[in-house]
Amino acid sequence: MAREKEHINVAMIGHVDHGKSTLIGRLLYDAGEIPEHLIEKYRKEAQEKGKATFEFAWVMDKLKEERERGITIDVAHRKFETDKYIVTIVDCPGHRDFIKNMITGASQADAAILVVDVVDCVQAQTKEHVFLARTLGINQLIVAINKMDRVNYDQKAFEKCKEAVAKLIKLVGYKPEEVPFIPVSAYYGDNVFKKSDKMPWYNGPTIREALDLLKPPEKLIDKPLRIPIQDVYSISGVGTVPVGRVESGVLRVGDKVIFEPPGVVGEVKSIEMHHEPIKEAYPGDNIGFNVRGVSKNDIRRGDVAGHPDNPPTVARDFTAQIVVLQHPTAITVGYTPVVHAHTAQVACRFVELQKKIDPRTGAVKEENPQFLKTGDAAVVKLEPTRPMVIERVKDIPPLGRFAVRDMGMTVAAGMVLDVTP
Ligand code: GDP
Repeated sequence: MAREKEHINVAMIGHVDHGKSTLIGRLLYDAGEIPEHLIEKYRKEAQEKGKATFEFAWVMDKLKEERERGITIDVAHRKFETDKYIVTIVDCPGHRDFIKNMITGASQADAAILVVDVVDCVQAQTKEHVFLARTLGINQLIVAINKMDRVNYDQKAFEKCKEAVAKLIKLVGYKPEEVPFIPVSAYYGDNVFKKSDKMPWYNGPTIREALDLLKPPEKLIDKPLRIPIQDVYSISGVGTVPVGRVESGVLRVGDKVIFEPPGVVGEVKSIEMHHEPIKEAYPGDNIGFNVRGVSKNDIRRGDVAGHPDNPPTVARDFTAQIVVLQHPTAITVGYTPVVHAHTAQVACRFVELQKKIDPRTGAVKEENPQFLKTGDAAVVKLEPTRPMVIERVKDIPPLGRFAVRDMGMTVAAGMVLDVTP
């Protein structure tokens, strides 16, 4: 039996109009993911309208039209297969959505495709997205130098833009020599799924091949057990049943578990997923599990279950890199908004503004700034007003990202660099 392919999430980043949507459409189209009935319908329309060739652009226009008419079509899942992976494209329409999606974990990306128009080359959002990708821990990058048709597939134009992008990504800490730079035309499909015959000077991979060269995502299954608790039920005849999603590690029937911050310990009697009993639960599984030795009142939403020999980290304070997304005035020491991390919501005090960094490059701009404003990126120290579990993003990524909320909006997003237990 063929082993199921591994999943990988890839973010599409780059300046507006450089061709992100077109590249997504092209990948889905060439991979055969645009539903056959839609292609059939469009082909017929094209014939009726006397369009000689059935072009990709026609499909893109039609899909856009349908989207604008509010028809949700089943290409929305944005998934396609390469030889090695099932790739899910995480689109980042707006800068803010991007960060929010990234940190809420709704769409954690394992890699990013940076789309750069060969003519306009590096622009403001190119810089921002590259820095954000790096900040949010996306360590693998593919650069698509797009719209090569606009420069007649000229190698010099490609090299010139490649050089500028290489300089930019190096500045934020990527290794350009490990990053594929691919001359493509998303519109015409050159070097996307198929090797182009218009650029004989290029011997590197296509986008599809570059995706297959990505390292598989780090396996959360090999990390310590963490189950942020969403709800706790008390079921008569059964007992206490916390419910949550396994973020890392493996939970087995018979395991001893500890819930932090309260520090209570119990034994797992049974595990259920989709109303079926299971013996083991893995990352991504939404489960309810019955624990003996713990009462409903001992634990609550926001607590995290783990194994006693490697318990969840309760933070006295934590150091984080944040980006201020929107704040009407300024963030100063003493500011105490609510931090949303995994299932926990805890008011946390800004106790140190350590340094302001360049949101484009990560270079230190100012040590010990007096305040932070919208658009600033910084390293700060936060102190929870009551005990909370939070982890370093490099140890357990899903428990190391957080949103800062206040006044009904997401004020900042961040990731945890260090924790003082
Ligand atoms: P996004 O804002 O980054 O998602 O950019 P879009 O995918 O919406 O593309 C912006 C414009 O560039 C559209 O008019 C596309 O048709 C055009 N475009 C995208 N890719 C190519 C390409 O490879 N060649 C040319 N000539 N135009 C392209």
